[in-house]
Amino acid sequence: MSELIIEGLRASVEGQEILKGVDLVVKSGEVAAVMGPNGSGKSTLSHVIAGRPGYEVTGGSVRIDDVELLALPTWQRAQAGLFLAMQYPTEVPGVALRDLLQASASTSDDPDEIDARMREEAERIGFGAQFLERPLNVDLSGGEKKRNETLQLGVLRPKFAILDELDSGLDVDALRMVSARIEQATEEDSLGVLAITHYSRLFEELSPDTVHVFADGRIQETGGPKLATELEETGYERWVQPVAAAQPSAGLPDDPFADPFA
Ligand code: ADP
Ligand code: MG
Repeated sequence: MSELIIEGLRASVEGQEILKGVDLVVKSGEVAAVMGPNGSGKSTLSHVIAGRPGYEVTGGSVRIDDVELLALPTWQRAQAGLFLAMQYPTEVPGVALRDLLQASASTSDDPDEIDARMREEAERIGFGAQFLERPLNVDLSGGEKKRNETLQLGVLRPKFAILDELDSGLDVDALRMVSARIEQATEEDSLGVLAITHYSRLFEELSPDTVHVFADGRIQETGGPKLATELEETGYERWVQPVAAAQPSAGLPDDPFADPFA
């Protein structure tokens, strides 16, 4: 039984504070949903936890049990049991999925075992075996990329997975297969999940234990599974600040791109 513990996490990008003190705990076998409007910092949260370069962490802590992840390079965070399914998976020409998984799997795993898991996982989520030998994500559709991320998760068996809008790009049937696979991982391998999404449809097969509203760089409210369906109906208006740019400020033209001769 492990815990992913995020405490007072603050981070900036290009001098602008995006994460303004995030507190969140995910336990083994549990699913914590993080739902919020566009631009609120959800992907930033996932990137900062995983250690993507370009972000300045200005405070707080992210731990798996007593291991401080913020002090580690990304590959060691992965070794500590963290997995990120990216909102926009990266295309890596020249590296086949199979090579990536063989290299990522811990050295104690037998290469034949990894190959076997890879084929089994592909079948479980309806991912074509031809993709295993193709360059990673290159020319894949949005939905295929998301299945690809899920396959990696299934093969690598992390302790905690962050799913950044795993549902985007997936059609209904693919979404069902992928989210059912992740639900099984929470039961079979006690996977803990931090699931970022806008839509409660991700939670038809994958059952959240807690639902967090994320807006303006922090968690604003926490509730049970019912909150996910409520949010889909009511939207996030309550938590969204009026955009300052909507009020033209003195000295700036209303629309700098307007046709001056119109
Ligand atoms: P969400 O995933 O909730 O839609 P993001 O975390 O992608 O939000 O973005 C939050 C804010 O941070 C946005 O205003 C976005 O423009 C800004 N941002 C994120 N990454 C960068 C970056 N690398 N450079 C500049 N601004 C960024
Ligand atoms: Mg995002």
